[in-house]
Amino acid sequence: SFEPLASDFYAYGSLLADPEKEALAKLRAWLETEVKPLANEYWDRAEFPMQIVKPLADLGALSYAWDETKPFENSAVFRGFVQLELARVDASVATFVGVQNGLATGSISVCGSKEQRDEWIPRLASGETIGAFGLTEPLSGSDSSQGLRTTAKREGDNWVINGSKRWIGNATFSDITIIWAKDVEDSQVKGFIVPTSTPGYTATKIERKTSLRIVQNADIALENVVVPETLRLQNANSFRDTASVLRLTRAEVAWAAVGTAIGAYEAAVAYAGERVQFGTTIGSHQLIQDLLVKSLGNITASLGMVVRVSEMLDRGEQRDEHSALAKAYATARMRETVAWAREVCGGNGIVLDYDVARFFADAEALYSYEGTREMNTLIVGRKITGRAAFV
Ligand code: FAD
Repeated sequence: SFEPLASDFYAYGSLLADPEKEALAKLRAWLETEVKPLANEYWDRAEFPMQIVKPLADLGALSYAWDETKPFENSAVFRGFVQLELARVDASVATFVGVQNGLATGSISVCGSKEQRDEWIPRLASGETIGAFGLTEPLSGSDSSQGLRTTAKREGDNWVINGSKRWIGNATFSDITIIWAKDVEDSQVKGFIVPTSTPGYTATKIERKTSLRIVQNADIALENVVVPETLRLQNANSFRDTASVLRLTRAEVAWAAVGTAIGAYEAAVAYAGERVQFGTTIGSHQLIQDLLVKSLGNITASLGMVVRVSEMLDRGEQRDEHSALAKAYATARMRETVAWAREVCGGNGIVLDYDVARFFADAEALYSYEGTREMNTLIVGRKITGRAAFV
């Protein structure tokens, strides 16, 4: 049965409906027995455990959000808790799900036609099709709203895409990648469902990462890639539509940041209860307790924020600046928290075996992807002052 985590200090998890609690209990048990024992090993080898995809799908982790596939009515708060539970065990696994279920499926759900949704969403929810989301480019990261170089040119019933993408999660093994490209005619950003077997499409794994080593990222080259008009996302007419996908996924990254902070904090609490120095467990020392309490404060404040931002989504009230503030704030608090957990573990905090090192390293990528802290800050700053300060 489901109990809120001890690190969910104000028991936000108790607000969930019974079927939601039941589903989370199953997910948590599976993550702890099947994924946690693999994590450090796969991180070290920079490999993704493909064997977890089907169980993730069977547990519903790839289908809760979409009308086409959801097993029961559920709230955005529940879906946030799914990200939290995933990240609490491994931030890469949360990222895999965030790309598959949030960015790729989300693009098709938000920007696709009914036919496109009916065709692709069930396949992505079952894990039969793996999806990726290609927005960032070698020369365009934070400025992707205006700086994309990848182009799409209409030729009869087809589009011809040329350009390159960088950092694309899941793209070393994806079956389809959503490619965002500028239409050469009207200069607007459009989205395309590109099967990765299409001639002219190549993906190359980014090696030697020091963060999120389990999840795979790729550089993608697109050379005269031809896709039919039927694979253009029919309701993606400008970057504004891309941004509406990112609004949803940013809030989920904020939840994953809380989960990452919790994973590190729990490992630090366990270590503080075992490690003896000066004749007593280090958890008996006041300064260690201070680090743990500050960490719990960060987690509790961030959790309250993400619960509310997801409730706003359920009520149709969530705006770009709401999810941007949650992402900027929760990832900043996560970064402090994983560093304090590292500190509690002393030297052992930098070896994988004690788990904290993995959370500490992985936090860096969460801090920067789906809009850096600076970009999300500027989205909120624009709301406060009425002035855009991006350029
Ligand atoms: P830059 O945009 O070059 O920024 C560098 C620094 O400058 C940052 O600190 C930034 O905040 C700052 N900066 C830039 N402009 C301003 C300004 N106007 N004012 C103040 N500061 C500014 N992208 C995808 O499309 N799909 C994915 O699946 C994906 N997965 C990712 C996974 C990982 C592990 C990582 C690391 C990245 C991923 N990304 C993905 C890309 C990610 O979204 C970008 O890395 C991010 O948006 C930042 O872009 P950049 O790295 O090019 O940094």
